[in-house]
Amino acid sequence: VSYTLAGFLYLAAAALFIVGLRRLSSPRTARSGNQLAALGMLVAVVVTLADRQVVSYTTIIAGMVVGSAVGAVLARRVAMTAMPQLVALFNGFGGGASALVAIAEVDRVTLEAGTLVTIVLSVVIGTVTLTGSLVAFAKLQGLIGGAPLRYRGQALVDGAALAALAGAVALTIIAGSDWLWPLAGTAGLLGVLRVLPIGGADMPVVIAFLNSLSGMAASAAGFVIGSNALIISGALVGASGLILTSIMVKAMNRTLGAVLLGGFGAVGGDSGISDADRVANRASAEDVAIALAYARSVIVVPGYGLAVAQAQHAIRELERELTKRGVEVRYAIHPVAGRMPGHMNVLLAEADVDYQRLVDLEDINPDFPHTDVALVVGANDVVNPAAREDPSSPIAGMPILDVDRAMTVVVVKRSLSPGFAGIDNPLFYRENTLMLFADAKEGLTEVVHAVKDV
Ligand code: NDP
Repeated sequence: VSYTLAGFLYLAAAALFIVGLRRLSSPRTARSGNQLAALGMLVAVVVTLADRQVVSYTTIIAGMVVGSAVGAVLARRVAMTAMPQLVALFNGFGGGASALVAIAEVDRVTLEAGTLVTIVLSVVIGTVTLTGSLVAFAKLQGLIGGAPLRYRGQALVDGAALAALAGAVALTIIAGSDWLWPLAGTAGLLGVLRVLPIGGADMPVVIAFLNSLSGMAASAAGFVIGSNALIISGALVGASGLILTSIMVKAMNRTLGAVLLGGFGAVGGDSGISDADRVANRASAEDVAIALAYARSVIVVPGYGLAVAQAQHAIRELERELTKRGVEVRYAIHPVAGRMPGHMNVLLAEADVDYQRLVDLEDINPDFPHTDVALVVGANDVVNPAAREDPSSPIAGMPILDVDRAMTVVVVKRSLSPGFAGIDNPLFYRENTLMLFADAKEGLTEVVHAVKDV
């Protein structure tokens, strides 16, 4: 491939990435956006293979076969609810790959000051991303505890690790590439030390942020090897990761600084609810069916439990039955409902729920006081009124869906157990709340049958 043609094709790939990203902003165009971006990646990979003096096609093809096989198995096996862990691993490997590319490049290029700086950046950001993501993976997968890790002298240890990293950076720049592995080692240590103190409830934000870092590492690696396609795609990942981080941080009413400092989401906090007040109104599927069938308006609030139970088709069926009876049914989507950004949207789209019925938090909250029934299915933290009412709650200030302001609240979940943040939910003990204790799919299926009989 001639130099100009390669340059042109890389540009085309970058344009495809950008148009693809643009189309991801609406569910209607997201599928084609994903395909366009994948096409861009294919162009970039093919041109790179044809254009560069690659080491050996045999090694590359072997790598691609093994990688694709692992990817295909993961794509089929991994449950939607485990997607955040998978994304964490992907980010980590992306960061690790950028660091390795930069380290490998040292022997091939003449080390000018500029190149050395980009190599150091790729190695530091890439390795922090790798080890930080592995810790995030382990927390979400339950391999290590999700609670924030706190210990005496933590600030001192962090400070020492940071000083060691600064020393390694200085030595690499002054004394050259021999110091790259120690540099990677100290950066890796910092990644572990920084993510361990962050609680499980903040992991989504951490993962979005690590995603952004993996993009920055790739971009820096792009400068090292002089690849415009890598610089641009890395920058796109870096920027979109940062935007997502900011959206999520806002959705939890936190700041990125507070999240990264850690300590949030301690388990076992006192909810302040006395045992005498822990009386929940237990309802049967028939009770729920009557409340729903005679309502004018129903707002469904899907959460993580809906995903676990795979109850999306059952809720869609219930929506059909209710709309047949003239009930207005909408879905309230909290930005961090479920276990990954957009989780609920994907799930409901799978069951053919009309996008028009999905309403964001800010738009739907004013409607709860005029709503007959708020139907909460497998959601917990995102409807916890303690966030609004109790300044001492660990989730104080986190924007929630104001379901408690609806005339009647129906909560479908298996027990009174807490959600992801590990804290009690006073909503379950309110007078206007009915608890249907059931697996979401089984419970909703029973409710659908009961509605048909009303
Ligand atoms: P929660 O984790 O707060 O609550 C889910 C509830 O679902 C549980 O209380 C559980 O109660 C119930 N449940 C579990 N299995 C079933 C089942 N089979 N049938 C019915 N109910 C079931 O979920 P939310 O969606 O309300 O909140 C999301 C939480 O996850 C937030 O804390 C958020 O910060 C965090 N998070 C979000 C991410 C994101 O990007 N969206 C990523 C990672 C974390 P029971 O056991 O009684 O059934």
